[in-house]
Amino acid sequence: MLGYPNDFISFSKSLSLARQDKNNIFISLVCEAKDSSVPFAVKDNICTLTTPTTCASRILDGYISPYEATVLTKLKKHDCFEVGKTNLDEFAMGTSSETSFYGPSLNPWDPTKVCGGSSGGSAASVAAGIVPFALGSDTGGSVRHPASFCGVFGFRPTWGRVSRYGLISMASSMDVIGIFSKTLNEVRWVFDVIKGFDRNDSTSYDVKENITFGSKKPKKVFVPKLKDLAKIVELYIFEDFEILIKDLAKENIDIQEIECDIFENSLPVYYLICYAEVSSNLSRFDGIRFGPKNNHHADVWRKDSLGEEVRRRILMGCHVLSEGHKEGLYEKAVHLRKHLSSTLNDWSKDGLLLTPTTPSVAFGINSKKDPISMYRQDFFTTAPSLAGVPAINIPWNKYKGLPYGFQVSSGVDMDENLINEALWINNFSKWTR
Ligand code: GLN
Repeated sequence: MLGYPNDFISFSKSLSLARQDKNNIFISLVCEAKDSSVPFAVKDNICTLTTPTTCASRILDGYISPYEATVLTKLKKHDCFEVGKTNLDEFAMGTSSETSFYGPSLNPWDPTKVCGGSSGGSAASVAAGIVPFALGSDTGGSVRHPASFCGVFGFRPTWGRVSRYGLISMASSMDVIGIFSKTLNEVRWVFDVIKGFDRNDSTSYDVKENITFGSKKPKKVFVPKLKDLAKIVELYIFEDFEILIKDLAKENIDIQEIECDIFENSLPVYYLICYAEVSSNLSRFDGIRFGPKNNHHADVWRKDSLGEEVRRRILMGCHVLSEGHKEGLYEKAVHLRKHLSSTLNDWSKDGLLLTPTTPSVAFGINSKKDPISMYRQDFFTTAPSLAGVPAINIPWNKYKGLPYGFQVSSGVDMDENLINEALWINNFSKWTR
């Protein structure tokens, strides 16, 4: 059994906090605190045996999974126990945790604001000090985005390094289980426990490495062209980012500016692929297999039991896939994805990619009405998802009391190295914050 980082221990007795869930962070709670174990929270699209797994959807309200996710089995072997299932955007589709059937999670820093999404409840549970770490899922940014809005670390591992068995699929080619915590030490500890091959997930694998946890200075850092960035993010984020770049350059780190096109193009590519995979994955929610059996007409059923964003993606996915010829939208997106992946992986050979994580701090509940403005929140997070590479939100600063973070990403299987470089950047720039 791995030894725990010291920070874990003090949390096990403070679980009564979870009972005062004024912010709607949890969908269900599991049990009382156990003195000797490490509590953690689990996004409610990861299957547990003793509580319902709802994906924050009406169609799965009260659904009990017949099996448990591999990540949970592994954590339990290391004396960790789950305290509850956290709120999310319905089926993890969203960027604010507002599309939940159970209502939005409120940001612990300001309850009039969203937590980000889709793993908003998990990010909030760590930010509020209820648990030392939480699990989320990240398809196009759902760990990194809420981590930025809640001011905690959020780590998306390389696709395949952590078993997805028991994670309810959204877009399988990008879905990963990720980690929230207030320290990178804890992130690494949890990653070491949950990573590795699992015979229940044929896409999972082991990586032989012996990189120990410790700060490592990056040699080269790729950043978006500052003049482009100024048009994309709010001024306070831009100014902070500029300071960081200058500080890194003073440390003799090679700074390379890149065009913002890569992010601008990633957004439509991500959404096209996501729609296509969602429409296929969610075909099992046909009104027959899951949910109360009181209406046999699938179309009517779906309207009653699936929210607007989920239905939008299923329909868009059917459209995208039904084109079915070489020049179709889906085929174009897959082609662009390959190009994008090789670019990101090439950069990672001698450097890491550094960007803001979110274009702004947390916005007001109900303030974003149209899907496109919500999708643009994912501006910086979708490229690493498409490439399948690891990425981390480093909580950076606050604006008017609300946190925001910066994202670092690297190449396939460079997870341990990325955590070490993120630690260096986090520690190095502490004084500017
Ligand atoms: N916000 C993105 C979306 O709505 C990402 C969601 C996710 O990573 N699960 O698709």
